[in-house]
Amino acid sequence: MIHVKNLHKKFGKLHVLKGIDTHIEKGEVIVIIGPSGSGKSTFLRCLNLLEEPTDGQIIFEDVDITSKRNDINVQRQKMGMVFQQFNLFPHKTVIENITLAPIKVKGMKKAEANQKAMDLLTRVGLADKAKAYPKQLSGGQKQRIAIVRALAMEPDVMLFDEPTSALDPEMVGEVLEVMQQLAAEGMTMVVVTHEMGFAREVGTRLFFMDDGQIAEEGTPMDVFTNPQNERTKEFFSKVL
Ligand code: ADP
Ligand code: MG
Repeated sequence: MIHVKNLHKKFGKLHVLKGIDTHIEKGEVIVIIGPSGSGKSTFLRCLNLLEEPTDGQIIFEDVDITSKRNDINVQRQKMGMVFQQFNLFPHKTVIENITLAPIKVKGMKKAEANQKAMDLLTRVGLADKAKAYPKQLSGGQKQRIAIVRALAMEPDVMLFDEPTSALDPEMVGEVLEVMQQLAAEGMTMVVVTHEMGFAREVGTRLFFMDDGQIAEEGTPMDVFTNPQNERTKEFFSKVL
Protein backbone atom coordinates (compact mmCIF):
# COMPACT_ATOMS: atom_id res chain seq x y z
CA MET A 1 0.00 0.00 0.00
CA ILE A 2 2.84 2.41 0.84
CA HIS A 3 6.40 2.16 -0.45
CA VAL A 4 8.95 4.52 1.02
CA LYS A 5 12.20 4.82 -0.90
CA ASN A 6 15.29 6.57 0.42
CA LEU A 7 13.26 9.21 2.25
CA HIS A 8 15.24 12.20 3.49
CA LYS A 9 14.01 15.31 5.25
CA LYS A 10 16.07 18.33 6.15
CA PHE A 11 14.94 21.44 7.98
CA GLY A 12 17.59 23.90 6.82
CA LYS A 13 20.86 22.34 7.94
CA LEU A 14 19.16 19.89 10.29
CA HIS A 15 19.12 16.46 8.66
CA VAL A 16 16.14 14.77 10.36
CA LEU A 17 15.27 11.76 8.19
CA LYS A 18 18.36 10.02 6.84
CA GLY A 19 17.23 7.55 4.26
CA ILE A 20 14.15 5.55 5.22
CA ASP A 21 13.30 2.53 3.06
CA THR A 22 10.25 0.51 3.93
CA HIS A 23 6.92 -0.76 2.73
CA ILE A 24 3.60 -1.03 4.49
CA GLU A 25 1.09 -3.63 3.35
CA LYS A 26 -2.68 -3.42 3.50
CA GLY A 27 -4.04 -4.43 6.89
CA GLU A 28 -0.77 -3.99 8.76
CA VAL A 29 -0.60 -2.15 12.07
CA ILE A 30 2.85 -0.57 12.17
CA VAL A 31 3.90 0.71 15.56
CA ILE A 32 6.74 3.23 15.65
CA ILE A 33 8.70 3.77 18.83
CA GLY A 34 11.93 5.57 19.53
CA PRO A 35 13.50 8.41 21.46
CA SER A 36 12.19 11.96 21.35
CA GLY A 37 13.63 13.85 18.39
CA SER A 38 14.41 10.71 16.37
CA GLY A 39 12.08 11.82 13.57
CA LYS A 40 8.91 9.81 14.25
CA SER A 41 6.51 12.72 13.74
CA THR A 42 8.44 13.98 10.73
CA PHE A 43 8.23 10.52 9.15
CA LEU A 44 4.44 10.36 9.66
CA ARG A 45 4.02 13.89 8.34
CA CYS A 46 6.09 13.06 5.26
CA LEU A 47 3.88 10.04 4.56
CA ASN A 48 0.92 12.30 3.80
CA LEU A 49 3.08 15.22 2.67
CA LEU A 50 2.25 17.52 5.55
CA GLU A 51 6.03 17.87 5.30
CA GLU A 52 7.65 17.88 1.89
CA PRO A 53 10.42 15.28 1.64
CA THR A 54 13.83 16.68 0.72
CA ASP A 55 14.69 13.53 -1.21
CA GLY A 56 13.26 10.12 -1.96
CA GLN A 57 9.89 8.78 -3.00
CA ILE A 58 6.62 7.79 -1.39
CA ILE A 59 4.43 5.53 -3.49
CA PHE A 60 0.91 5.28 -2.10
CA GLU A 61 -1.49 2.87 -3.77
CA ASP A 62 0.72 2.80 -6.88
CA VAL A 63 0.87 6.60 -7.19
CA ASP A 64 4.12 8.49 -6.64
CA ILE A 65 2.75 11.19 -4.34
CA THR A 66 6.13 12.91 -4.23
CA SER A 67 6.03 13.53 -7.97
CA LYS A 68 5.60 17.21 -8.77
CA ARG A 69 2.80 16.41 -11.19
CA ASN A 70 0.70 14.68 -8.59
CA ASP A 71 -2.30 16.37 -6.92
CA ILE A 72 -1.72 15.36 -3.33
CA ASN A 73 -5.23 16.31 -2.24
CA VAL A 74 -6.66 13.25 -3.95
CA GLN A 75 -4.40 10.83 -2.05
CA ARG A 76 -4.47 12.78 1.18
CA GLN A 77 -8.20 12.13 1.44
CA LYS A 78 -7.36 8.45 1.69
CA MET A 79 -5.01 9.00 4.63
CA GLY A 80 -6.57 9.88 7.96
CA MET A 81 -4.39 11.53 10.56
CA VAL A 82 -4.86 11.80 14.31
CA PHE A 83 -2.63 14.11 16.34
CA GLN A 84 -1.61 14.27 19.98
CA GLN A 85 -3.50 17.55 20.41
CA PHE A 86 -6.82 16.50 18.77
CA ASN A 87 -6.98 19.60 16.53
CA LEU A 88 -10.79 19.83 16.60
CA PHE A 89 -12.36 23.11 15.46
CA PRO A 90 -13.38 24.77 18.76
CA HIS A 91 -16.28 26.81 17.38
CA LYS A 92 -17.95 23.89 15.62
CA THR A 93 -20.05 21.18 17.21
CA VAL A 94 -18.92 17.58 17.20
CA ILE A 95 -21.13 16.67 14.26
CA GLU A 96 -20.00 19.76 12.32
CA ASN A 97 -16.37 18.82 12.97
CA ILE A 98 -17.02 15.36 11.58
CA THR A 99 -19.11 16.30 8.54
CA LEU A 100 -17.13 19.34 7.38
CA ALA A 101 -14.61 17.53 5.18
CA PRO A 102 -17.01 14.90 3.79
CA ILE A 103 -19.35 17.70 2.65
CA LYS A 104 -16.74 20.26 1.51
CA VAL A 105 -14.05 17.99 0.13
CA LYS A 106 -15.96 14.88 -0.94
CA GLY A 107 -19.17 16.66 -1.92
CA MET A 108 -21.26 14.37 0.23
CA LYS A 109 -24.90 15.40 0.78
CA LYS A 110 -25.43 16.85 4.25
CA ALA A 111 -28.03 14.26 5.25
CA GLU A 112 -25.76 11.41 4.20
CA ALA A 113 -22.76 12.94 5.99
CA ASN A 114 -24.82 13.38 9.15
CA GLN A 115 -26.05 9.80 9.01
CA LYS A 116 -22.54 8.47 8.55
CA ALA A 117 -21.26 10.65 11.39
CA MET A 118 -23.98 9.38 13.72
CA ASP A 119 -23.16 5.76 12.82
CA LEU A 120 -19.49 6.35 13.61
CA LEU A 121 -20.29 8.21 16.84
CA THR A 122 -22.48 5.33 17.93
CA ARG A 123 -19.62 2.92 17.31
CA VAL A 124 -17.36 4.85 19.70
CA GLY A 125 -20.13 5.39 22.24
CA LEU A 126 -20.47 9.14 21.73
CA ALA A 127 -23.74 9.56 19.83
CA ASP A 128 -25.10 11.73 22.66
CA LYS A 129 -22.28 14.26 22.11
CA ALA A 130 -23.18 15.14 18.50
CA LYS A 131 -24.35 18.65 19.40
CA ALA A 132 -21.67 19.33 22.03
CA TYR A 133 -18.69 21.64 21.51
CA PRO A 134 -15.13 20.34 21.96
CA LYS A 135 -14.62 22.32 25.18
CA GLN A 136 -17.49 20.39 26.77
CA LEU A 137 -15.67 17.09 26.23
CA SER A 138 -12.96 15.25 28.12
CA GLY A 139 -9.61 14.61 26.44
CA GLY A 140 -10.50 10.99 25.78
CA GLN A 141 -13.80 11.97 24.22
CA LYS A 142 -12.10 14.62 22.06
CA GLN A 143 -9.60 12.09 20.79
CA ARG A 144 -12.33 9.55 19.96
CA ILE A 145 -14.11 12.34 18.03
CA ALA A 146 -10.87 13.15 16.21
CA ILE A 147 -10.60 9.49 15.18
CA VAL A 148 -14.22 9.50 13.99
CA ARG A 149 -13.59 12.70 12.05
CA ALA A 150 -10.72 11.03 10.21
CA LEU A 151 -12.78 7.88 9.60
CA ALA A 152 -15.65 9.89 8.13
CA MET A 153 -13.48 10.46 5.04
CA GLU A 154 -13.31 6.68 4.54
CA PRO A 155 -9.50 6.56 4.50
CA ASP A 156 -7.50 3.54 3.38
CA VAL A 157 -4.84 4.15 6.03
CA MET A 158 -4.87 5.87 9.41
CA LEU A 159 -1.81 7.66 10.80
CA PHE A 160 -1.66 8.27 14.55
CA ASP A 161 0.96 10.53 16.16
CA GLU A 162 1.08 9.80 19.90
CA PRO A 163 -2.72 9.83 20.16
CA THR A 164 -2.77 9.17 23.91
CA SER A 165 0.22 11.23 25.04
CA ALA A 166 -1.82 14.31 25.97
CA LEU A 167 -4.44 12.35 27.91
CA ASP A 168 -4.91 11.83 31.61
CA PRO A 169 -3.99 8.23 32.39
CA GLU A 170 -7.58 7.13 33.05
CA MET A 171 -8.57 8.14 29.50
CA VAL A 172 -5.85 6.32 27.63
CA GLY A 173 -7.72 3.00 27.64
CA GLU A 174 -10.88 4.26 25.94
CA VAL A 175 -8.85 5.65 23.01
CA LEU A 176 -6.66 2.55 22.65
CA GLU A 177 -9.82 0.46 22.66
CA VAL A 178 -11.19 2.35 19.65
CA MET A 179 -7.86 1.92 17.87
CA GLN A 180 -7.78 -1.77 18.70
CA GLN A 181 -11.28 -2.19 17.30
CA LEU A 182 -10.23 -0.39 14.13
CA ALA A 183 -7.24 -2.70 13.74
CA ALA A 184 -9.48 -5.73 14.25
CA GLU A 185 -11.70 -4.49 11.42
CA GLY A 186 -8.66 -4.59 9.14
CA MET A 187 -7.71 -0.91 8.93
CA THR A 188 -4.14 -0.26 7.83
CA MET A 189 -2.55 1.81 10.58
CA VAL A 190 0.74 3.53 11.36
CA VAL A 191 0.92 4.42 15.03
CA VAL A 192 3.61 6.39 16.86
CA THR A 193 3.11 5.57 20.52
CA HIS A 194 4.76 4.96 23.87
CA GLU A 195 2.06 2.46 24.81
CA MET A 196 4.08 -0.73 24.85
CA GLY A 197 1.02 -2.86 25.71
CA PHE A 198 -0.74 -1.64 22.58
CA ALA A 199 2.41 -2.20 20.54
CA ARG A 200 2.65 -5.79 21.72
CA GLU A 201 -1.02 -6.72 21.47
CA VAL A 202 -2.13 -4.85 18.35
CA GLY A 203 1.02 -4.15 16.35
CA THR A 204 1.82 -6.48 13.48
CA ARG A 205 5.25 -4.90 12.95
CA LEU A 206 7.36 -2.61 15.09
CA PHE A 207 9.81 0.02 13.88
CA PHE A 208 12.39 1.36 16.29
CA MET A 209 13.48 4.77 15.02
CA ASP A 210 16.76 6.31 16.04
CA ASP A 211 18.48 9.37 14.63
CA GLY A 212 16.34 9.61 11.49
CA GLN A 213 16.48 5.97 10.49
CA ILE A 214 14.63 2.75 11.15
CA ALA A 215 17.30 1.21 13.34
CA GLU A 216 15.44 -2.04 13.91
CA GLU A 217 12.19 -3.65 12.84
CA GLY A 218 10.39 -6.90 13.42
CA THR A 219 7.33 -8.34 15.09
CA PRO A 220 6.70 -6.58 18.41
CA MET A 221 7.33 -9.85 20.24
CA ASP A 222 10.72 -10.35 18.58
CA VAL A 223 11.89 -6.81 19.12
CA PHE A 224 10.72 -6.71 22.73
CA THR A 225 12.14 -10.05 23.74
CA ASN A 226 15.25 -10.07 21.60
CA PRO A 227 16.33 -6.59 20.53
CA GLN A 228 19.39 -6.69 18.26
CA ASN A 229 20.35 -3.04 18.20
CA GLU A 230 22.24 -1.45 21.11
CA ARG A 231 20.10 1.69 20.93
CA THR A 232 16.91 -0.38 21.05
CA LYS A 233 18.18 -2.18 24.16
CA GLU A 234 19.09 1.10 25.78
CA PHE A 235 15.64 2.55 24.94
CA PHE A 236 13.84 -0.45 26.42
CA SER A 237 15.93 -0.30 29.57
CA LYS A 238 14.47 3.18 30.11
CA VAL A 239 10.84 2.66 29.15
CA LEU A 240 10.01 -0.92 30.11
P1 ADP B 1 9.94 12.83 17.27
O1 ADP B 1 8.52 12.86 16.81
O2 ADP B 1 10.60 11.49 17.11
O3 ADP B 1 10.10 13.33 18.68
P2 ADP B 1 10.31 14.94 15.35
O4 ADP B 1 10.06 14.32 14.02
O5 ADP B 1 9.22 15.76 15.93
O6 ADP B 1 10.79 13.81 16.37
O7 ADP B 1 11.58 15.87 15.26
C1 ADP B 1 12.83 15.43 14.78
C2 ADP B 1 13.79 16.62 14.72
O8 ADP B 1 13.33 17.53 13.73
C3 ADP B 1 13.88 17.40 16.01
O9 ADP B 1 15.21 17.83 16.17
C4 ADP B 1 12.97 18.59 15.76
O10 ADP B 1 13.36 19.70 16.52
C5 ADP B 1 13.15 18.82 14.29
N1 ADP B 1 11.98 19.43 13.64
C6 ADP B 1 10.74 18.87 13.56
N2 ADP B 1 9.90 19.65 12.89
C7 ADP B 1 10.62 20.76 12.53
C8 ADP B 1 10.30 21.96 11.79
N3 ADP B 1 9.08 22.17 11.29
N4 ADP B 1 11.29 22.85 11.65
C9 ADP B 1 12.53 22.64 12.14
N5 ADP B 1 12.90 21.54 12.82
C10 ADP B 1 11.94 20.60 13.02
MG1 MG C 1 6.77 13.36 17.75
